[in-house]
Amino acid sequence: MSISVELNQITKAFDTTVAVNDISLTIAPGELFFLLGPSGCGKSTLLRVLAGFYRPDAGELLFDGEVMNNVPPHQRNTGMVFQNYALWPHMTVRENIEYGLRLRKLEKSTRKEKIATVLEMVEMADYRDRPVNTLSGGQQQRIALARALVIEPSVLLLDEPLSNLDAALRQNLRDEIKDIHSRTQITTLYVTHDQVEAISMADRMAIMKDGVFVQVGTPREIYQYPADPFVASFVGETNFITGNIQEISNGKATIETPVGVLHTESVHHDFTPGQEVSCSIRPETIHLNGNSVPNQLTAKVGAVTYLGRVEEYELSIADSLKLKAIIHNPGTETKKPGDTVNISMSPKAIVPLPTND
Ligand code: ATP
Repeated sequence: MSISVELNQITKAFDTTVAVNDISLTIAPGELFFLLGPSGCGKSTLLRVLAGFYRPDAGELLFDGEVMNNVPPHQRNTGMVFQNYALWPHMTVRENIEYGLRLRKLEKSTRKEKIATVLEMVEMADYRDRPVNTLSGGQQQRIALARALVIEPSVLLLDEPLSNLDAALRQNLRDEIKDIHSRTQITTLYVTHDQVEAISMADRMAIMKDGVFVQVGTPREIYQYPADPFVASFVGETNFITGNIQEISNGKATIETPVGVLHTESVHHDFTPGQEVSCSIRPETIHLNGNSVPNQLTAKVGAVTYLGRVEEYELSIADSLKLKAIIHNPGTETKKPGDTVNISMSPKAIVPLPTND
């Protein structure tokens, strides 16, 4: 049965560093929730507060409505997977997984059954009697996952579980973790600084910076409607054009910028005329060969990089602004460095965001 996790104004400081600063969040039963943020923003600290390794200085942590602040880690029924696997290297796969079951004083036959089920789940049934130090990194991480899952945790905590693995393995394990999660429906908190991992797997995610949440939402909401320039550039690639709000009417804005007036379709912040904004424009929303849409600019082509599935263009506008455009499914015809092009951006693609000052 899945449980909810609630954080009410949790703060945790180390001397003068406030690693987690007054954070509130509710993770729904069965949700796969991601914490995403740059190094040092407080992700691991928050995860450790949930696991019970750190006690918050202030605030309340609840599992299914029950306050956990004073419950020691081993009584919280959380399963944890670390970046460095943290397995016992000389023990076999079975012995590593069995440890938590022995602590819970389960019968031998029950232990055997549960180990078999969980090894099946992580596709490692054939490795049961191998010492873990004879396994590859990816296999060891599967065993670490099996060890966390075998106790049937109420909450699964994953701390950068894939960052020691190569790209192909990461992709594989992402799919597997997502699949295991959808089968088990364990409420899961997953910490990463890899935005692709978060976007491709999360039900919802929090973008964290300096101990606080800058934005919480689904991957789609965060990618399409970032709260500020930090989120826009941390999640996905983007371009910025800074300007001032000229007019807002019917939820649409016109923005005066050094390269001309830009028109947006919808505005998701309370802006006032004259206010400085930073317009986020994703590279894939910039079209070469402008047609009759309102946002047209003349650009000079810089470097062109053909990548098969996409082609990337560096563009400069009036020598003062550089933009990156990504064209999907590029044909045989290509623009060349030095060419002059008319670029266009639909009003939907212009996302004005508050600047930080
Ligand atoms: P990374 O992605 O690099 O693991 P993170 O987002 O997980 O970073 P934390 O490890 O939670 O960040 O650290 C948040 C802040 O708290 C950092 O400034 C860090 O130096 C500090 N910090 C974390 N643990 C301790 C500790 N045990 N003692 C003192 N300071 C700490």
